[in-house]
Amino acid sequence: MLYWVVQPGSNIGGIGAGLIRMVHPWDEWLIVWGYDINGPAPEVTDESATQIVRNLVGVPDLEVEITGKSLWGNNEQYATRLQSGRVFCAGDAIHKHPPSNGLGSNTSIQDSYNLAWKIAAVLGGTAGDDLLETYTVERAPVAAQIVTRANKSSREFGQLFEALGIDKAETPEEMAALIESRKDNTAEGAAKRRAIQDAMDLKNYEFNAHGVELGQSYASTAVVDDGSARAVPVRDAELYYEQSTAPGGRLPHVWVGDSSRKYSTHDLAPYGRFTLFTGTTGDEWLTAAAKVGGQLGIDIVTVVIGPGHECTDLYFAWAEIRGVDEDGAVLVRPDKHVGWRSASLPADPAAVLADALSAILSRQA
Ligand SMILES: Cc1cc2nc3c(=O)[nH]c(=O)nc-3n(C[C@H](O)[C@H](O)[C@H](O)COP(=O)(O)OP(=O)(O)OC[C@H]3O[C@@H](n4cnc5c(N)ncnc54)[C@H](O)[C@@H]3O)c2cc1C
Repeated sequence: MLYWVVQPGSNIGGIGAGLIRMVHPWDEWLIVWGYDINGPAPEVTDESATQIVRNLVGVPDLEVEITGKSLWGNNEQYATRLQSGRVFCAGDAIHKHPPSNGLGSNTSIQDSYNLAWKIAAVLGGTAGDDLLETYTVERAPVAAQIVTRANKSSREFGQLFEALGIDKAETPEEMAALIESRKDNTAEGAAKRRAIQDAMDLKNYEFNAHGVELGQSYASTAVVDDGSARAVPVRDAELYYEQSTAPGGRLPHVWVGDSSRKYSTHDLAPYGRFTLFTGTTGDEWLTAAAKVGGQLGIDIVTVVIGPGHECTDLYFAWAEIRGVDEDGAVLVRPDKHVGWRSASLPADPAAVLADALSAILSRQA
């Protein structure tokens, strides 16, 4: 679905190389070509756009219909404060970066999920105003992280051009000869092949950075630390997303269900509501959740995972990931991030749950 096209000029501006990206199979495509921002902005007409398409595809008389065209620039900017009084900013307005890594829409939607339930809770009178401050605390570091990552990925294309030796090439023929030389049975050919492999390995950080995409963990007053030590990543934290119920992180996804239905844990924790997960011996949490929900005026969804309940731990994956005993509990916020967890069933579950929720919601004790 995505081709990077190396041609003379493809390392200028843009996102590292010419891009042909499928929008609809196989007759609608997005084409990206860079320009030097030190010069005047080019005027893009249907004719010049068609020429760019033909050059990139390599078919001089290709029939092309242009449906839209625009100029945009790579940015490297992130906001450190996302709120001013009653005004909140989200999306590209607070993180501006090249499309490398494909982080733009995802992060923008995450911003909104983080903010929407907080505004709803404050306006609905179930949370204190301070909850809104946690939007900046939680999301500004994510903005900084993705802007840095995307720009790094964009720049790292340079290493591929250097490895191929084509960064200085001026004609297509010169470029083609330099690319061909990677096949040479010589010491230089071998060195070039190694350099290409190293450069391509870096692209793993553009296309497979699951840790950057999903691994955000919040530390704010809307997360109650359970005192457990944070696991030290054993694998590359940018490439690998390690699921955990440690407070602040994204609710881990595992499959649960019964003989006829399969649910993701994410399906069981609806957006917009708090969800409390427990196991069979944690039954008392259900009474506690109903009581505390009534006291605080919030709706708490409860999920018991175990045989005989709506969801069985089909592959024992929940037991492996839940990070608490069977009678413990994991409280998930309305944005599907873990807000708090209890290792086991305490003497007074309603009291500890009320404390945790009051803290998350910035309510007076
Ligand atoms: C070539 C390219 C490829 C991309 N690929 C990916 C990808 O693979 N994956 C991914 O996740 N993201 C990708 N993105 C990024 C993604 O498109 C953006 O991150 C996302 O659209 C940002 O959403 P937004 O709502 O914050 O801003 P926008 O989508 O920019 O929406 C802002 C809206 O506000 C409107 N507006 C502006 N000023 C005013 C005003 N004064 N009054 C009223 N309206 C106004 C604008 O017209 C626009 O409709 C890509 C971007 C580009 C350019």
